[in-house]
Amino acid sequence: MPRCLHIYASGFQCIDDSVEATEFCDVHQKVVEFERLEDSPVRKLFFRLIALVLLLLFLIPVFYTLRNLYIGPPAKAQEAW
Ligand SMILES: [Zn+2]
Repeated sequence: MPRCLHIYASGFQCIDDSVEATEFCDVHQKVVEFERLEDSPVRKLFFRLIALVLLLLFLIPVFYTLRNLYIGPPAKAQEAW
């Protein structure tokens, strides 16, 4: 059985054998799973934020294009260009 891949703060690797199908021993497997559960909502929020920004970046030109088509560009915007 391969050794647990956990590295202690002292720099030494854990001497326990890793659990089958995982790279960590019984003790450190739980730590990793707990960290993953902690990270998951933050990552979901992060990706949702990126998705929202991308959606806005896509919608802003569409909004301006539609406004120009149906209402016409405002006088101030024409002066600025
Ligand atoms: Zn370990």
